[in-house]
Amino acid sequence: MVKSQLEAREIKNNAVLQAMLKVPRHQLVPGDVRHLAYEDTPLPIGNGQTISQPYIVAFMTEAIDPKPEMKVLEIGTGSGYQAAVLGEIVKDVFTIEIVEELGKKAQKDLAQLGYKNVQVRIGDGYLGWPEEAPFDAIIVTAAPERVPQPLIDQLKEGGKMIIPVGPTSNTQELRILEKKKGKIRTKVLFPVRFVPFTRDTLK
Ligand code: SAH
Repeated sequence: MVKSQLEAREIKNNAVLQAMLKVPRHQLVPGDVRHLAYEDTPLPIGNGQTISQPYIVAFMTEAIDPKPEMKVLEIGTGSGYQAAVLGEIVKDVFTIEIVEELGKKAQKDLAQLGYKNVQVRIGDGYLGWPEEAPFDAIIVTAAPERVPQPLIDQLKEGGKMIIPVGPTSNTQELRILEKKKGKIRTKVLFPVRFVPFTRDTLK
């Protein structure tokens, strides 16, 4: 996976490549798709949600320029895979999942794999995690129609956020935002397809 899907497609950050060699992706996907864990494809993880293709995880992780001292927020825990990859590289990971069942499972799996620096919260990621803000970087793995303002507010000066944005039924655009002197600079990267960013799952 690392050689043929990541290195071959110009993922160069050694920490990202090492992390993806290390995290047991097969232990974070459901049993019925386990044999496909290292294939070049997204996979269903239950509750209508998906774990991203390995290349997208690598790309998004590399895009925030992860460093060992960083504190990173992820929105959309899903299987916990992206959080585990971050947990291999940065100091602290905070991840929020809106579907309780998925959040609880990821929490259990991540604890079992020994990721003590990853904290999972069940809740609406739109609101971010104000008690732990600001964050050095934010990775959003579900697609809202516009970038949630609370997440912009919780990004540290000089920090980066990577996020798919666009209408839920279509492809979205992957964007990278950087906060410089309090202002946001946005770069549009390429079209992607993520599951929708929902807000009504929690009653
Ligand atoms: N990063 C995940 C991919 C998960 S797919 C992984 O590595 O497996 C996106 C996830 O975002 C889904 O599990 C979905 O339930 C969740 N999600 C959607 N809207 C959300 C919201 N408002 N807050 C938190 N999580 C949300």
